[in-house]
Amino acid sequence: MTNEELWQKTLNEIKFEISNANFITWFQNTIVTDKTDQKIAVGVPNAFVKEWIEFKYQKQILKVIRGFLPEIRSIEFSILPKLSQKIPAQIEKKSRPQEQQEMPELSIDKDTNLNPRYTFENFVVGSFNELAHAAGQAIMNNLGSVYNPFFVYGGVGLGKTHLLQAIGNEVKKRDPQIKVKYISSEKFTNEFIYALQNNEINYFKEKYRIIDLLIIDDIQFISKKIQTQEEIFHTFNTLYENNKQIVLSSDRAPKLIEGLEERLRSRFEGGMIADISEPEYEARLAILHTKKKEKNLLINDDMLEYIAASIKSNIRELEGALNLIAVRLNVQKTPPALNDIKDILAKHIQPRKIVTAKQIIHAVSKFYNTQERFLIEKTRRRDIVRPRQIAMYLLREDFNGSYPYIGQKLGGRDHTTAIHSYEKISRDIKKDKQLQEEIKQIRLNFYYAQEA
Ligand code: ADP
Ligand code: MG
Repeated sequence: MTNEELWQKTLNEIKFEISNANFITWFQNTIVTDKTDQKIAVGVPNAFVKEWIEFKYQKQILKVIRGFLPEIRSIEFSILPKLSQKIPAQIEKKSRPQEQQEMPELSIDKDTNLNPRYTFENFVVGSFNELAHAAGQAIMNNLGSVYNPFFVYGGVGLGKTHLLQAIGNEVKKRDPQIKVKYISSEKFTNEFIYALQNNEINYFKEKYRIIDLLIIDDIQFISKKIQTQEEIFHTFNTLYENNKQIVLSSDRAPKLIEGLEERLRSRFEGGMIADISEPEYEARLAILHTKKKEKNLLINDDMLEYIAASIKSNIRELEGALNLIAVRLNVQKTPPALNDIKDILAKHIQPRKIVTAKQIIHAVSKFYNTQERFLIEKTRRRDIVRPRQIAMYLLREDFNGSYPYIGQKLGGRDHTTAIHSYEKISRDIKKDKQLQEEIKQIRLNFYYAQEA
């Protein structure tokens, strides 16, 4: 068996074990470069792939290879930059013709409300969503018995709906008998109110309490809706007691949903909570590659790189930009120039929502469970010092406040205090994961503040 044959056979097996999107992202353009008695050397196109393959797939690869050559003990990965140039040719050759056609407009299942377009096959996993993805897998393998509920949170357009629906679709695919229902919390509320008004409340209760896997998307919208919360609480308990799985999503962590009853909050926090953060550059690029393939677009890799570098925080926008380019391509029939793409993006990328100083201060005090006036007044209470520094940091970063203004606004201090705070938090944030997470959560709260 030549090295090439060995690797081909290995890849053929791996392909069945992982999703298509991940296979393309991590295994295209890898080769076996050398083989000794006990060791295999594998070449990969760049450092990012190397790190990921080593971290995530090394064991799996070794297991498959040892199925062919039991004497192999280890794999060594090395970077061969020339491999990256092969990407387009290989992807094109390997995809079958029907895969290259546009995805047909598949309809939403009336019974489950699931949209078949959301699958794990086309869900790219990177460190930004890895935990949520892994937890989702664990849920599916142990429906109702390990993490209940499963609560996913993250900002707009980061893939919560995609993940939730992929879970539903996969569960249904594995066992069509399992009763799955996907619903947004808004739709749940509407149905509930309709049932109340039309004397159908028993029917409504029955309908939701016989479900095996209940998925409620965007649960933050039940904020301040007392009656809906009451109903969800009872539905939740019935399902929970019968070991039925509940999966929820929200744009923020449970403790930051305003107007949520305490008993519901503690239920939501009682299972597994996983967040999805903003995708890093490599993940954005991998997503664009997947979508390009899905949509069968003729667009150069350097343009995808440009898009991935320009749109930083939102997968929906990445996709939107690609769709606009697709439309343009349809009209022009020639691949766009980089300048066309820059034009399209300039018109498309949404500026960040504008935030006020008041919102920042409110969000910080809320997050640290303290009163706004303590931040604003001159107190030197020790438990206030840190939140106040963080508020100062955010006023500088996100509001662009001048140092004198910030000093004035918080504790009536002079600008050197503001500078000192800003610099301290800027330094700390680089090494303190916990702080990073806290600041992210505070930002979520003011950028996506709920309308009352
Ligand atoms: P959210 O519900 O968090 O607002 P969505 O699930 O609607 O976000 O995702 C927005 C778009 O981005 C969808 O078209 C979805 O298919 C796509 N998307 C999100 N995450 C991924 C991912 N990890 N891989 C591929 N596509 C993704
Ligand atoms: Mg959504």
